[in-house]
This record gives sequence, C-alpha cells and structure tokens, in this order.
Amino acid sequence: MKNKIKRIGVLTSGGDSPGMNAAIRAVVRTGIYHGLEVYGIMRGYSGMVDNEIQKLESRSVANIIQRGGTILKTSRCKEFFEPGGRKKAFDNLQKHGIEGLVIIGGDGSFRGAQIFSSEYDIPCIGLPGTIDKDIAGTDFTIGFDTAVNTAVEAIDKIRDTADAHDRLFIIEVMGRDAGYIALHSGISTGAEHILIPEKKTSVIDLIASLQEKEKRKKLVNMIVVAEGEDFGGADELAKHIRKEMPNQDLRVCILGHIQRGGSPSCFDRVIASRMGYHAVECLIENTHNVFIGIVNNKMNYMPLNEAVKKKQRISEEWMKIVKILAT
Ligand code: ADP
Repeated sequence: MKNKIKRIGVLTSGGDSPGMNAAIRAVVRTGIYHGLEVYGIMRGYSGMVDNEIQKLESRSVANIIQRGGTILKTSRCKEFFEPGGRKKAFDNLQKHGIEGLVIIGGDGSFRGAQIFSSEYDIPCIGLPGTIDKDIAGTDFTIGFDTAVNTAVEAIDKIRDTADAHDRLFIIEVMGRDAGYIALHSGISTGAEHILIPEKKTSVIDLIASLQEKEKRKKLVNMIVVAEGEDFGGADELAKHIRKEMPNQDLRVCILGHIQRGGSPSCFDRVIASRMGYHAVECLIENTHNVFIGIVNNKMNYMPLNEAVKKKQRISEEWMKIVKILAT
C-alpha cells in the first residue's frame, strides 16, 4: 500500500565509505522523481540533534557520484546514545516535517536507527555504508569493493619491493572486527598468511610455518593482518617474529586511512545507486524499519532489529584456500 509521505531525510553516519555519495544522489533523485521533498541531514545523527538540516535539489547532488567521502559529512554522535539527544533529534525532524529517514552507515548507525524508530513513530531505512562488509543480510556493502581494491593496489606495490630485497612485509589493513578486507586483499595478492579477528592467531604455528618455509627455501614476502587480529596487530607480530627469527629481514606497513578514501569503484557506485533507489521505494510503499542489502544479486530486506544482531561469518573454507594456495 502506498503512503502519503511527503518529506524524507537522508544522512550518512559512522565511518565513511566510498560510494556514500552515490547512495545520497540516488535517494535524492528517486525521491524527487516521486514528488517528495528530500532533506540532507549533516554529520550523521549530530545534524539531527543540532538541527543542521537542509533541503536538497536534484542539482545539489550533481557531479558527486564519482567522489569518495560524503557531501553530507559524517560523525559519531554521543548525544544520540541518550534519550534526551534522540528527543531533540525527533523535535528537529518534526520542525521540518520529515516523515521518513534513509540512514547510510554501519551496524552502529543501524542500532541507533532501530532504537530511534522504536521510540518515535518515524520509519527508518538502513543502507550498508561500510568498508568492513561485516553486516549480515547482504553480500556486499557500499565501499567494500573500493577499499579492498585500494588495499590490493598498495600491496602489489609492496610486493615488488619485498621481492627485490627478499624481505618479509607484515601489512596491516583495516578491519577492527571483521577480516574481509584482509581475506580478499590477501588472497588476491598471494599473501602467505592472513590473520583476521574471527580466528584466533597462533603465533607458535605462524613461526613454525615461517621456519619450515625458510628451510625449504620458499620465499615468504607477505603476511596480511587485519587491524583487529587478536595478537595485537602488525607491530606486535613483528616484535615477536624478530625475537624468534632474528635473521629475518622484516618490515611493517600499515595501510590505514587510504583504504577509506578515493573514487568509488564502478561496483560500489552501482550497488549504492540500486540501494538508494530501493530505500525510497520502501518508504513510499510502507516497508518500514528495514535494512536493505543485496543477496544473490537481488534486493534483500531485513528488519533493522535483526540486522543489528547478526554478523557475517567467515567459513573455514576461506582459511583452507589461503593455506593451500600459499604453499
Ligand atoms: P558505524 O555505523 O560505522 O558502525 P558507529 O558504531 O560509530 O559507526 O555508530 C554511529 C553512530 O550511531 C554513533 O555515533 C551513534 O550516534 C549512533 N549509535 C550507535 N549505537 C547506538 C545506540 N546503541 N544507541 C543510540 N545511538 C547509537
């Protein structure tokens, strides 16, 4: 059943990811196509609390599809954790007559949306904007493809110099809770070891494997580590390896925030556009409080309260592939 919603708001929240602009553009233009007024809320939930809200026109989102970051800016908003902050946010939405929200962010932002929509009668649609790909209910998140390709490009370059010097590099990629960037970038660059938060790191096994490879003169160039790996990340691992294998020529490289920036890939632009379009369709068709993902190339709708509870799991097969291909 279609509803008579007239004004909607769009915001980006939490960690930024490449492709957020493409999603904003799709929300604005689909909204306008349907005769809605679309309001941009600045700096995530902070803009709702502080009333930084402005009307967007079709031209406001011209020439942004190819840009990383987010024109609406983003933030982590402490006040939104408190009932008083959320009350202020709701009052500000009412002042503008905003009747529905599209929230582009990670699982933290969805948690905020879920609580907000349970307290106030305001439909919220979540779009997965995160480089980490750690949200269940979608095969892809907006920004993951770009981030992982940035990591691959950087790691390929490091491999050239590692190979020239017969040197071992420990490369740390982003992923505090999720190892997808490490797994994808590690497999696609031929890393000999990949360490991720989802799997306990055994440094004893790691050292044994490095020593065994050293014995049979197999050159090991790269260990890719997710920042949330449980031994303590690249620096801690390097310290330990240097102690156990003092002759090993070893360097650490932390890729850091370059993985968040840059022009979004074609893939991220396309999924962001599809998701943004469907978010507006959901608000019009009265499908409320869902998170929109893509599963098997079809749109997938998961209630927000389920989306915040579930995480993607990494199957054992991935680790088996890493091991077999690195021998
Ligand atoms: P991400 O969306 O990238 O996972 P965060 O976890 O930092 O990023 O969450 C973004 C914002 O969402 C927070 O700064 C806060 O404003 C809001 N938020 C997250 N969790 C909650 C919660 N439990 N209650 C209210 N707001 C929340």
